[in-house]
Amino acid sequence: MSDLLDVKVNDFMAKVIAKNPGESEFHQAVKEVVESLMPIVEENPKYKYAKILERMTEPERVILFRVPWVDDNGEIHINKGYRIEMNSAIGPYKGGIRFHPTVNLGILKFLAFEQVFKNSLTTLPMGGGKGGSDFDPKGKSDQEVMRFCQSFMTELQRHIGADTDVPAGDIGVGGREIGYMFGQYKRLRNEFTGVLTGKGIEWGGSLIRPEATGYGCVYFADEMLKTRKESLKGKIAAVSGSGNVAQYAVEKLISLGAKVVTLSDSSGYIYDEGGITTEKLAYVLDLKNIRRGRIKEYAEKYDVKYVEGQRPWGEKCDVAFPCATQNEINEEDAKTLCKNDCMAVSEGANMPSTPEAVEVFLKNEILYGPGKAANAGGVAVSGLEMTQNSMRLPWSREEVDSKLKQIMVNIHETCVKYGKSSSGFINYVKGANIGGFIKVANAMLAQGIV
Ligand code: NDP
Repeated sequence: MSDLLDVKVNDFMAKVIAKNPGESEFHQAVKEVVESLMPIVEENPKYKYAKILERMTEPERVILFRVPWVDDNGEIHINKGYRIEMNSAIGPYKGGIRFHPTVNLGILKFLAFEQVFKNSLTTLPMGGGKGGSDFDPKGKSDQEVMRFCQSFMTELQRHIGADTDVPAGDIGVGGREIGYMFGQYKRLRNEFTGVLTGKGIEWGGSLIRPEATGYGCVYFADEMLKTRKESLKGKIAAVSGSGNVAQYAVEKLISLGAKVVTLSDSSGYIYDEGGITTEKLAYVLDLKNIRRGRIKEYAEKYDVKYVEGQRPWGEKCDVAFPCATQNEINEEDAKTLCKNDCMAVSEGANMPSTPEAVEVFLKNEILYGPGKAANAGGVAVSGLEMTQNSMRLPWSREEVDSKLKQIMVNIHETCVKYGKSSSGFINYVKGANIGGFIKVANAMLAQGIV
């Protein structure tokens, strides 16, 4: 970037930081996008004059609310509830709900901001949003989780709707939580609509939605590898996390012939040199989704290495799939991955690599698929769930999977279109940011100063 553009980015960021103090993850997400977009905005007076970037970095609406609930012992707890309605230029707000003790305004604003670009990349008509609570479902009984979800939805229901804002799951919000929230919405509003996605298959859900984010980020990795005449067959894969995204990334990796050697949770990681098999993966699904245990138990059951308090990036791999949380790969981890000849990183999680780590990947010219492109499969199938709900007709597994695959191929093509340099290197960060931006920016221009 030229010195002048650098100055413009720094000036812009100084204003964002002053207006949104203490929201470090939001600053990080905005800076990465603005670095890619500043040249486009400077070259296009229409975007500059309309203050598109300034408007895109200010949420259309932020909803904050109290969530009181009663635990099994009769004690009263009060959590914070949030919904960030970031941008509705191309469709209803759409984005997940996260329940995790680390949730705060800055984290949800970063996620909502990323969601705007991601949703645009899918080509489906979805705006961007995100929500959540600092509630921790871990260690709570089903009854406690239900009472919390009901209280959360009692307030949220007045702000959302099938044509207004359609939340989904994220960290700490899976099928169980979506069910409790949907039940409460239906009870309060007396309507059965597609107001949430990630619903159970018997009550309006889409086949492949649970699998979509994990499958999608593997399809994206496959597309990236094809640009170097490589494939996933026979590759050693390191996966982090052991929740929804990680589980189905592993399933698809196994089916495409890769050997997955790691999984993790917030306590540590396991290393299974022989590879995670379909049978072992079934054990992980039961451990994490039903018994809600720790990944350490995998190491005990299968007698493999467990490393407490660490992430798996020091283990040798050909391809890496960070599928846990933001900033889980730092500069040192990125250098280690590159030193170990890792050829591709496909992000299942949102912003799992720090800016310094991203710089290392780009400098080493490895195939680096940022989350807003690589993990867009989840929201894409949420979009397909909305379509099926509107039609009141379900599609088959094969139909949804083939649409998902095609969407990931299209997102990859968009990244190549906007991210390929004269040397042939594909900067997927730039490609995803510009590709996601143009449609939203043009829609905002067409709709006036709103
Ligand atoms: P889950 O709650 O199902 O799983 C999260 C996994 O990440 C768990 O293994 C969890 O371990 C681990 N984790 C969470 N927080 C931390 C932390 N602070 N440090 C280390 N490990 C942590 O969530 P999902 O699989 O749905 O989401 C994972 C990532 O993918 C998130 O970044 C999410 O935003 C992103 N994503 C999810 C989509 C979806 O469709 N679900 C769509 C697109 C992106 P533990 O159990 O110990 O907390």
